[in-house]
Amino acid sequence: MTTNHDLFQRAQQLMPGGVNSPVRAFKSVGGEPFFTARADGAYLWDVEGKRYIDYVGSWGPMIVGHNHPHVREAVERAVKNGLSYGTPCPAEVTMAETITRLIPSIDMVRMVNSGTEATMSAIRLARGATGRNLIVKFEGCYHGHGDSFLVKAGSGALTFGVPTSPGVPKANADLTLTVAYNDLDAATRLFDEHGRDIAGLIIEPVAGNMNCIPPKDGYLQGLRELCTKHGALLIFDEVMTGFRVALGGAQAYYGVTPDLTTFGKIIGGGMPVGAYGGRRDLMQQIAPSGPIYQAGTLSGNPVAMAAGLAMLELIQAPGFYDQLAARTRLLTDGLQAVADGEGIPFSTNRVGGMFGLFFTREKVASYAQATAADTALFNRFFHGMLERGVYLAPSAFEAGFVSSAHSEQDIADTLEAARGAMRAARA
Ligand code: PLP
Repeated sequence: MTTNHDLFQRAQQLMPGGVNSPVRAFKSVGGEPFFTARADGAYLWDVEGKRYIDYVGSWGPMIVGHNHPHVREAVERAVKNGLSYGTPCPAEVTMAETITRLIPSIDMVRMVNSGTEATMSAIRLARGATGRNLIVKFEGCYHGHGDSFLVKAGSGALTFGVPTSPGVPKANADLTLTVAYNDLDAATRLFDEHGRDIAGLIIEPVAGNMNCIPPKDGYLQGLRELCTKHGALLIFDEVMTGFRVALGGAQAYYGVTPDLTTFGKIIGGGMPVGAYGGRRDLMQQIAPSGPIYQAGTLSGNPVAMAAGLAMLELIQAPGFYDQLAARTRLLTDGLQAVADGEGIPFSTNRVGGMFGLFFTREKVASYAQATAADTALFNRFFHGMLERGVYLAPSAFEAGFVSSAHSEQDIADTLEAARGAMRAARA
């Protein structure tokens, strides 16, 4: 039998860290990753035949569970007609109609192949449309691996950014200003100082890459007002929150209208897809209707569009998001009760089908609080859960995802595993 260990040994000789995306290597939690052989509903099975209840969901796309027959059959039908055309195809039009109908702030949309492409394109558009160069991002928010986003705060709250990765030129990082998430005063000061040079502000409207941190009341509205006042574009990066926290995304959930929005994950139904869209006057500046260049050999791919459209059909079922939120609540309330019973400092956040677990007594609303939680305890808990057949994100700084395939029994089994894992982690 091929084992996880054998595969990882081979993989490490051939791919950096043995993986094609860093977090999969389990570096932050320690140990070795498992290799998935198949996935169905709420579960993954590794190559050794072990089953896991999965709360990662391919990092977000699998909101209806893995291998949903409606999505799979749509892909099978599309594949019969060829894999890629390089010409326009009907499914792209249906996709654009669907997105613009579900997200009122979007008049026009451009399909791309990943969330990273979507965010890189959106800031190019913001710069091209405003004629300004500076971008504002928030500490702890992730927008893919574009050079402009691999930047952290320099010393002092309002300094220009510094690269977080070799290979990102300092001159590039200088154009990204970073500010603390959920701190409207800090953003206001930043705009007071640099407002006339800021092209756009990009934010995860619910932060999902520093664990899960919802915006404080009025925070997104405040950012909207700042951007409007200073003539900068408000970009909601809804790669994670789009079609996840509500059918209309975080912008519908919080009632705030951005100028541009980026998507990924769910709109691809598990295929490599991203999109960006927004106001017509802005989107018309994209080539070929306007001068701002952006393109893609495989963009709007017919198989990917079929998967995404099938997914978007499923999530429009009446009551879908109410049920998803109720399941998520069952999980987070249950975990809180288990931790309280075991006397372990613990708190949770949740919005729709997205959640965060923190080993701290505080309600977490900032990056500083998230990083102050007990990550060593999380890592032990993670491995305890994995042993018991529950797969949480292999890092204390990632959000978790519930799907409509997670049954009440799955949640009950997860809570049972958590009791054992918390006891073992504490000891
Ligand atoms: N934006 C956000 C909010 C994300 O969570 C991610 C990926 O996790 C990205 C952008 C990048 O998307 P991709 O990994 O598809 O390039």
